Amino acid sequence: MTIATRNEWEQRAARLSPATQAFIDGEYRDAASGATFECISPIDGRVLGQIASCDEADADLAVRSARQVFEAGTWSRRAPAERKAVLLGLAALMEEHAEELALLETLDMGKPISDALTVDIPGAARAIRWYGEAIDKVYDEIAATAHDQLGLVTREPIGVVAAIVPWNFPLLMACWKLGPALAAGNSVILKPSEKSPLTAIRLAQLALEAGLPKGVLNVLPGLGHTAGKALALHMDVDTLVFTGSTRIAKQLMVYAGQSNMKRVWLEAGGKSPHIVFADAPDLKAAAEAAASAIAFNQGEVCTAGSRLLIERSIKDRFMPLLVEALGQWQPGHPLDPATRVGALVDNQQLETVLGYIQAGHDQGAALVCGGQRVMEDSGGVFVQPTIFDGVDNAMTIAQEEIFGPVLSVITFDTPDEAIQIANDSPFGLAAGVWTADLSRAHLTAKALCAGSVWVNQYDGGDMTAPFGGFKQSGNGRDKSLHALDKYTELKATWIKL
Ligand code: NAD
Repeated sequence: MTIATRNEWEQRAARLSPATQAFIDGEYRDAASGATFECISPIDGRVLGQIASCDEADADLAVRSARQVFEAGTWSRRAPAERKAVLLGLAALMEEHAEELALLETLDMGKPISDALTVDIPGAARAIRWYGEAIDKVYDEIAATAHDQLGLVTREPIGVVAAIVPWNFPLLMACWKLGPALAAGNSVILKPSEKSPLTAIRLAQLALEAGLPKGVLNVLPGLGHTAGKALALHMDVDTLVFTGSTRIAKQLMVYAGQSNMKRVWLEAGGKSPHIVFADAPDLKAAAEAAASAIAFNQGEVCTAGSRLLIERSIKDRFMPLLVEALGQWQPGHPLDPATRVGALVDNQQLETVLGYIQAGHDQGAALVCGGQRVMEDSGGVFVQPTIFDGVDNAMTIAQEEIFGPVLSVITFDTPDEAIQIANDSPFGLAAGVWTADLSRAHLTAKALCAGSVWVNQYDGGDMTAPFGGFKQSGNGRDKSLHALDKYTELKATWIKL
């Protein structure tokens, strides 16, 4: 793929006038209160727009519209093959508008344009297409009943789904929810993060263009404690699906209990261990994977391999390879196609990351490289990928999710110790293992408390396998047919013959 030059992207950015309103009942509109919030680019501090700041009144309108169309059956009772056709059309439109969507994503949250263009947008379109293609190929069940009974086990769409998503992969996380939710026949209200609302707002229009009936997809930009909370407490939202921090995930469970006991599915934070055993088949490849696992997307990745566990006997050989590999990941202008590390999402995230770097120093970890804010003259928010060695797993930088490019290196002596350290975490999202020993690979993978385990690679996978966490990394799964569990109710119908 030929990617435009930085100059060309900057020219396009200058001409851009992003949609900024909420999308409710098939049309763009301001928040009922008229309130807005500023959308600021972390690349240079430029204001990209004044975004509608929705609250309870808008949430009510959106839920009413979603409910009405659900009950009318224009989408929920449409033949799966027809829903498929609309979703395939939407995926195609997303691909047609990939450059525009990628530019919005990069300007909005600071990721490199090359990643937005090759990872986020195609991945988001793929998710919509995957569920579109799947939905007319899944069958219900007939129970193993007595001769005079017919027991039908059927899946029904749940109704009104609220999807609250984060800013690190804004459109991709949204589409991991929208794909199965829409394919199954639900109506959805999508609440993007206030830090990255632009692609969700644009997507609504593409969905309408693709033929999704009005009200089936509403987009409700706004702050977490107004728009998000209003949806989470709403008495007529049937299911709440969420990707974001563990702190807010816990709060959403409370809101569900305080309201209508809506189903709550949570994809939350992580602090993933990445274990390199002495018999790793290729130390250089392991070092490159470890660098990518902490630097890709500025470390703002739920599965970031932020705890690197290295067996003591190879430590001295491994560390120079790691430092060299991470050297290839230096911050640059996000609109430069050669850039691999972009801007952090905003000043607040910068303060958080720098705060953890300070905690690493304070608690006695040894800084190996990085650790500084850079490119300050640009007006943007950039930080160097950072390695701390000599980290004890009890230190703050090893226990808490930093959500930035800060790697903690922990040394171990035995496989049992590696597993004990790896599992000593409130999180359980993902893990990596490097070993040439097949049995050790399987035994370690089995022993790790993690929803995804990668062997001799890091961060692999596609739509075919479920993705989600153990422990405080959440419940339920995105991706694969398992995700349909979140968007359907099981019904048993008994017919006396
Ligand atoms: P966040 O929890 O701060 O916000 C996520 C969303 O929740 C946003 O849309 C926000 O507006 C909304 N929100 C905030 N307060 C709310 C409230 N009181 N009621 C309702 N909604 C509210 O998370 P973030 O900073 O946007 O994203 C980073 C987090 O997301 C990290 O912890 C990361 O690990 C996690 N994440 C997890 C996965 C996964 O699949 N497990 C994927 C990506 C990101």
